[in-house]
Amino acid sequence: MNDVPSLFGSMVFNDSVMQARLPKDIYSALKKTMSQGTHLELDVATVVANTMKEWALEKGATHYSHWFQPMTGITAEKHDSFISPSGEGKAMMEFSGKELVRGEPDASSFPSGGLRATFEARGYTVWDISSYAFIREGTLYIPTAFCSYSGEALDKKTPLLRSMEAFDKQALRIVRLFGNTSTKRVVTTVGPEQEYFLIDKEVYLKRPDLIYTGRTLFGARPPKGQEMDDHYFGSIKPRVAAFMKELEVELWKLGVYAKTHHNEVAPAQHELAPIFTTTNIATDHNQLTMALMKSVADKHGLSCLLHEKPFAGVNGSGKHNNWSIATDMGANLLEPGETPYENAQFLLFLVAVIKAVDDHQDLLRVSVANAGNDHRLGANEAPPAIVSMFLGEELTEILEALEVGAAYRDKTKHQMEIGVTLLPHFPKDTTDRNRTSPFAFTGNKFEFRMLGSTFSIAGPNIVLNTIVAETLRQFADFLEQSADFETALASLVKKTFHEHKRIIFNGNNYADEWIVEAKKRGLSNLKTTVDALPEFISPKSVELFEKHHVFTKLELHSRYEILMEGYCKTIHIEALTLVDMLKGEIIPACIAYQNDLAKLLERKKACGNYEVSLEHHLLTKIAKLSSNLFEKLTTLETALLHSAEIQKIFDRARSYRDQVLAAMSAIRPVADELETLVAKKHWPFPTYGQILYSVV
Ligand code: ADP
Ligand code: MG
Repeated sequence: MNDVPSLFGSMVFNDSVMQARLPKDIYSALKKTMSQGTHLELDVATVVANTMKEWALEKGATHYSHWFQPMTGITAEKHDSFISPSGEGKAMMEFSGKELVRGEPDASSFPSGGLRATFEARGYTVWDISSYAFIREGTLYIPTAFCSYSGEALDKKTPLLRSMEAFDKQALRIVRLFGNTSTKRVVTTVGPEQEYFLIDKEVYLKRPDLIYTGRTLFGARPPKGQEMDDHYFGSIKPRVAAFMKELEVELWKLGVYAKTHHNEVAPAQHELAPIFTTTNIATDHNQLTMALMKSVADKHGLSCLLHEKPFAGVNGSGKHNNWSIATDMGANLLEPGETPYENAQFLLFLVAVIKAVDDHQDLLRVSVANAGNDHRLGANEAPPAIVSMFLGEELTEILEALEVGAAYRDKTKHQMEIGVTLLPHFPKDTTDRNRTSPFAFTGNKFEFRMLGSTFSIAGPNIVLNTIVAETLRQFADFLEQSADFETALASLVKKTFHEHKRIIFNGNNYADEWIVEAKKRGLSNLKTTVDALPEFISPKSVELFEKHHVFTKLELHSRYEILMEGYCKTIHIEALTLVDMLKGEIIPACIAYQNDLAKLLERKKACGNYEVSLEHHLLTKIAKLSSNLFEKLTTLETALLHSAEIQKIFDRARSYRDQVLAAMSAIRPVADELETLVAKKHWPFPTYGQILYSVV
């Protein structure tokens, strides 16, 4: 248990296992496929499959599963045992090259947004050789991409891999211009920080809203919330610590570099951060992390809530997508370098990201849109729905100086000009770190902070990789044509900053003034999922994604349908749950308490002067609120019936937002006030206090 190095990756069929177990020629063939994307021959796959099986059997596995990431946002798996008849009623364990490389799950029950109707009814899974196989709970998992027979992506991994290819292609053109001939591949790297809540399982099981929707639909504010700021980085309770320890050990076994954990701002809220890695691996690992958080919590009698906003009035949960650019030689291209040339290259990549974010604010907003995250973005805890960038004072001043051609004087009094002098180093922990920015430069990487906690990080990174690839393409086209590279470079950096500096905002993104200012700057402010999603299928978006072979128009449209459907379904389920809880439990509780009061009042009546009594007062108030509640409930039910009928997906989604969600929001304060009035013995559900402080 304490020997972490030998524990680490012990359940992963990683490079060292392959090297030790595979015949040399097979190992080199596989490595070649991995690094250069060459075709994997079946005879190679057969040997790899057999070796993998032997290894898995030694580790106690009995089954294998193609593991994929359909558009539900979570992972899917279908288990097959290695078992195969060997005559005379006996069995042996087999795993063929074909079974390793390709699977054919019945795909008809996964969301396809009309793709499968247009094409084939079945989909197939293909081994993603760039992500290692691993063993969990007696099953050998093979990371795979999931496509239709005609090659349309039905998952999140395929477009992510495509976006990494597109990025590699354009970034290589840039580094070549800087004289780098040795780099063979440029990748993006990600370290996702994951927030979550941990509550007691018994309490969880008493809240149908948490069970069905992941968030509480009712709940009066507890006497104590997060106002004392005493939870953030506070000492970790033993039960939580035991959970974290087991979680990390399990993650380490799977080769996930879980690194940091701490308590977050809200009571019962925590965070886990891994060490960064290549984006597609980071995506797989983040999916594993979320799945393990749930299953390990269960073992500890806890429940892990990943919803973006499980509780009103306290912070919700997000995910910070720390993103950077790295060469296969290990250089971080967003790190200011040691030489003027490296610094010029850094500045070029930096303004490329600035331009990409400004040009495609809408797509970044789309990439973090869902019903859950709508409760966070724009509230006073998460970045607003407006995308802007934080660069910090120092870097902004440098770029401003370059823009006007003035000499920038850093603290050591060096003059700054591109390609002539050194850039000052940016301390990683500069004091002007801005926690309110949706997209912040943090020394050698960007931190995209708008992601919701349930998100697959695939979506936002597909967008990030593609929009920066597009800017790099434009830059490379221009620079490759220029006679004088240095002059062209200098003017490109200046021009780009000048044209896109409106996206830079180093101030407080939570302030109301920013919304006004952002509007003046012409930045987009897509407040809800319904406003944002249509941008995904705009002509500009289709052109961008098709140009880089990341999504076809058809794939974009299918995703749009799925995301809009998902939005409607989420609110539909929430509304049904709310109706059920009200009718089945809350209203009867109000009636029961009113009955108690009425009986008492009856007795008091006999003694006279009941009008000023406490019971009379309470009874009147509860009766009024209850009938108000019932009226509002009727409005909700009507809205729900009406919305569900609407055919056109955009209109349906808008109706769910404007009618159903609005009706739900009107109900909540009434129900919450009733919770404060009705005797605790009658109230059917654990209160916020009981939930948020359930882990002792
Ligand atoms: P913070 O103060 O935001 O916690 P850290 O330096 O601790 O900053 O990093 C937070 C996350 O950023 C970690 O998951 C870390 O691995 C990741 N990270 C650091 N460097 C990079 C990089 N070059 N590319 C991607 N992610 C990175
Ligand atoms: Mg951070």
